[in-house]
Amino acid sequence: MRVMAQIAMVMNLDKCIGCHTCSVTCKQAWTNRQGTEYVWFNNVETLPGQGYPRRWEDQEKWRGGWERTRSGTLRLRAGSRLKRLGNIFANPELPGIDDYYQPWTYEYKNLIDAPAGDDLPVARPVSSLTGEPLDTIEWGPNWDDNLGGAPRNAPRDPIVEKIRDEVGERIRFEFEQSFMFYLPRVCEHCLNPACVSSCPSGAMYKREEDGIVLVDQDDCRGWRMCVTGCPYKKVYFNHSTGKAEKCTFCFPRIEVGLPTVCSETCVGRMRYLGVMLYDADKVTEAASVEDEHDLYPSQLGCFLDPHDPAVVAAAKASGITHEWIEAARRSPVYDLIATYQVALPLHPEYRTMPMVWYVPPLSPVVEAVAASGHDGEDAGNLFGAIDALRIPVEYLAELLTAGDTVPVEAVLHRMAAMRAYMRRVNLGEERDESIAAAVGLTGPELEDLFRLLAIAKYEDRYVVPSAARADADALAEAHPLDDACPVGEAAPGRVLLNLSPTRRSA
Ligand code: SF4
Ligand code: SF4
Repeated sequence: MRVMAQIAMVMNLDKCIGCHTCSVTCKQAWTNRQGTEYVWFNNVETLPGQGYPRRWEDQEKWRGGWERTRSGTLRLRAGSRLKRLGNIFANPELPGIDDYYQPWTYEYKNLIDAPAGDDLPVARPVSSLTGEPLDTIEWGPNWDDNLGGAPRNAPRDPIVEKIRDEVGERIRFEFEQSFMFYLPRVCEHCLNPACVSSCPSGAMYKREEDGIVLVDQDDCRGWRMCVTGCPYKKVYFNHSTGKAEKCTFCFPRIEVGLPTVCSETCVGRMRYLGVMLYDADKVTEAASVEDEHDLYPSQLGCFLDPHDPAVVAAAKASGITHEWIEAARRSPVYDLIATYQVALPLHPEYRTMPMVWYVPPLSPVVEAVAASGHDGEDAGNLFGAIDALRIPVEYLAELLTAGDTVPVEAVLHRMAAMRAYMRRVNLGEERDESIAAAVGLTGPELEDLFRLLAIAKYEDRYVVPSAARADADALAEAHPLDDACPVGEAAPGRVLLNLSPTRRSA
């Protein structure tokens, strides 16, 4: 057993209100400079929808992630090293600016500087890249927000295309007949990152101490193989510096015990950060299982129980500090992923072993029950509706469990049981243990899950090891965070992504 520690995130999709605060604060912190106008390290997509960049989930086109060979090994979907090098100057599997969007602003100065006259001044849209006027604006990073234009755009969602054959006309995009939810996305800081393996220059690396995946700006040669390799399309090319950039998990904040900016500012309080211990020796085998439906359980099998004395001893032997082990024991992320098993990985079929997991939304089911005139909080109604309302379940399964509906149904049943059980508690009625037993949990466990999902305080949602805080002074000397911390007053244009080249993995 080779124990390693990773900072991981869980997002509870039922609590995302689609406000985009996380995206805006992340952009202000990290990509508010020339060359990154089109870049959103954090973005929030409305699903069903095409996402950002458009149709990023279509791996037939983009060739991201890993595939399993007949002999059972993994290879990059983008092809052999030779093939990738052959594409270096004309890579057909690279999203263009129109797949992201043409970033734009408006000629606001016209509104105040126009001379007095009979005509009303207007602020035309202009490209943020070229400064040239834009005749029309046809797409943006958030164009289909709240199902805007869904009758035309949503059928092009790759998951909708995939399950259409099975469910046919049952997927409808007319108002009142659609289901929708929000999916906030950042880099997954994968255990088996395809971006790192794609990089011909060795510039991308996964930090040994906390698993954060970064780009060394000195080593990056701008080949953009990582952009193709990442199936989540979470590496971006800075056209001004000619280097790749990506979400850093706000490592200067994590290093001093603070949550990421997107977590800190999340209005819905739907993000959780914590430590996961895992067995690094199991990762490749877990990512290589034959049946895609086994990828979720196989990744679950890599995680180690931080309460197990044998794991603690092995972690100490691997050099993991007492503070990190203690943080792993209090990790809300571990509880949601492993203890209660209500969080699921995003597209495990990409075989990158992602480390940002999601609690699937129950709300499309609750809303459908309530709309039919029934009690949307009643356990019986909800259990029945989860089984009957196939479309959201099938859609969620394509998103989170490589199409296997069984784990998704199990999670939704657990969430429905928690809702129904806690309503009785909150109304002062007798606790109904049969509701908890129906999903294999006890009443106190459902109450603990409720505390975690519904009312957890800041310090319960973000358990970032205090050891980092204790080391803050040393870190500040090693990297001048006072100048560079993106949340502070960092100068526009400063490249912030290469603050710790000395801390890279072997
Ligand atoms: S999600 Fe992040 S770590 Fe995973 S492959 Fe993409 S850029 Fe790399
Ligand atoms: S800030 Fe939180 S609630 Fe708002 S869109 Fe982002 S993840 Fe959702």
